Amino acid sequence: MNLTESLRASIREVPDFPINGISFKDISPIFLRPELIAATSSALSAPWRGRGITKIMGIDSRGFLFGPQMAVDLECGFVMVRKKGKLPPETISVSYQLEYGEAAIESVADAVVAGDRVLVHDDLLATGGTALAAARLAQKLGAEVVGFSFLVSLSFLNGHEKLHTVSPHIHAIIDFES
Ligand code: AMP
Repeated sequence: MNLTESLRASIREVPDFPINGISFKDISPIFLRPELIAATSSALSAPWRGRGITKIMGIDSRGFLFGPQMAVDLECGFVMVRKKGKLPPETISVSYQLEYGEAAIESVADAVVAGDRVLVHDDLLATGGTALAAARLAQKLGAEVVGFSFLVSLSFLNGHEKLHTVSPHIHAIIDFES
């Protein structure tokens, strides 16, 4: 089995979780297999080598799983982007629309600085709202967003289109069509 086949076999699809109509992609079985953890983080890092990335901004919470290992591979820093209220001051935040209502994410204010070249990373791209908000956070701090990195993309939700407004460089290892 190649890496994409192994990942498809390891990601558990859970229908109607957390709400009706959502097919939740549970990536936790990957972490029961150390060789798959290593191969996945290498495949996530590979497209970004030599691109001058200085910080990876990983999104709460599954963006924290591979992000630090990617930062080791790319010899750059790792910054947590958390849901509002989880980080100690001083923080900087960006609000974004959910299907119903609004959410906010934040990072420690001096973790990203002007001149940084940022890669936004999360486990999964759905509508793109969360990753776009993380990119806006980076831009608010004066950084350049070089691209977006995901393990899984749900391309039928067109998240790519939203992210393209910030950077055309969007990488995912596997795509799900439902
Ligand atoms: P979005 O902002 O719509 O792109 O949603 C992306 C965020 O929600 C990521 O942090 C994902 O972990 C989570 N997410 C959205 N849809 C799913 C799904 N079907 N399975 C697992 N996680 C999901």
